[in-house]
Amino acid sequence: MARQFRTAGHEIVASAETADMAVVNTCAVTTQAASDSRSKIRNIARAGVEQIIPTGCWTTLQPKEAAALPNVLRVVTNDQKDSLVPTALNLEPSAFDLEPIDRTPIPGLHRRTRAFIKVQDGCDNKCTFCITTVARGAGRSRPLADVISDINSALGGDSKEIVLTGVHLGSWGQDIATELHLRDLVNAILRETDVKRLRLSSLEPWDLDADFFSLWTGSRLMPHLHLPLQSGSESTLRRMARKTTPVSFRELVNAARDVMPDAAITTDIIAGFPGETDDEFAETLDFVKEMRFTGGHVFSYSPRPGTGAAKMKGQIKPELRKRRNHILQEAIEESAKIYREKFIGQKMSVLWESTTEYGEYGWRMEGWTGNYLRVSANTPSPRWNEVDEVELQEVDGEKLKGVIL
Ligand code: SF4
Repeated sequence: MARQFRTAGHEIVASAETADMAVVNTCAVTTQAASDSRSKIRNIARAGVEQIIPTGCWTTLQPKEAAALPNVLRVVTNDQKDSLVPTALNLEPSAFDLEPIDRTPIPGLHRRTRAFIKVQDGCDNKCTFCITTVARGAGRSRPLADVISDINSALGGDSKEIVLTGVHLGSWGQDIATELHLRDLVNAILRETDVKRLRLSSLEPWDLDADFFSLWTGSRLMPHLHLPLQSGSESTLRRMARKTTPVSFRELVNAARDVMPDAAITTDIIAGFPGETDDEFAETLDFVKEMRFTGGHVFSYSPRPGTGAAKMKGQIKPELRKRRNHILQEAIEESAKIYREKFIGQKMSVLWESTTEYGEYGWRMEGWTGNYLRVSANTPSPRWNEVDEVELQEVDGEKLKGVIL
């Protein structure tokens, strides 16, 4: 969208105070996310933006509510999102058919260091807690050639890392041809582009098999897997309609660690899913400890109207959801800390993503290793968007401090 606005002669600015128009990509994954989306729109209106266009999942689910927020010009639901810019500017969609591929940096935290390339949208599963399928519709994959061309233009614009994203990334290809799999996409990207750091975002465990990890033969695919577990209890997973069990999840993680013993394996977990008994919670906690996740998010269950789980009996009291969330977070933080400590003394490549001036010490850089360790180092001059070899020296909270070699 930013690229299309630019092609049409507009400028992308860093703050709402200087913007004439704002597009707000709203989220509905939790009630909190929906409420944050509304606040964002109100704040932007208060900052003086006179034309606001909400889009994304919350807007799609609650279009009237979105239209009633201050300074909203028009709402654009997900099915119309591809033509948001031409519609907003009253241009023919064909005006963008021959757009020059322009990837100059967009103001914002990550700017162009990591390019997130969406390869897939929607999902054909029906996990009972998930509103995403309602908001995003059936799974659809982007053609391989389009993905390759997007990656090449991001690399041309000097992005140093490519992250493949999708609502259900692991299902890429299935709607194009039954025999196509995400591994074909990854292989093609490695073969046909010069990407040096390729990362996969969230992958549902049932889309992968042990053979998938044979992709990690070289150093271009980052040793990091985000595998959403959601629960470590078989009965809870069944109520969630997840197509996995603790047994198959364990086998998958073991297969990944056989190939990449030091890979980061992160996860998502829901605390306090409807009907979650003390025993089921204890099973989840044991399983989480056993998996030794290197990081992750724990969400307190939040009922989303229109989902199966919202209607289930045995909704858990919010205080208990919170308590369980806290316990699970502590367990993940413990294994994450052990994981971080393992790398003290090692040399690793770090892509610097943020730069702050640091008095007489020069510059404080922060960035990520391939296996998703957050690293900081001081440098005499800024090294933003550079990849450096760093010796990791000590743990500093959730980060590691290092020295550039
Ligand atoms: S697989 Fe993911 S996106 Fe699809 S329904 Fe389940 S949680 Fe939602």
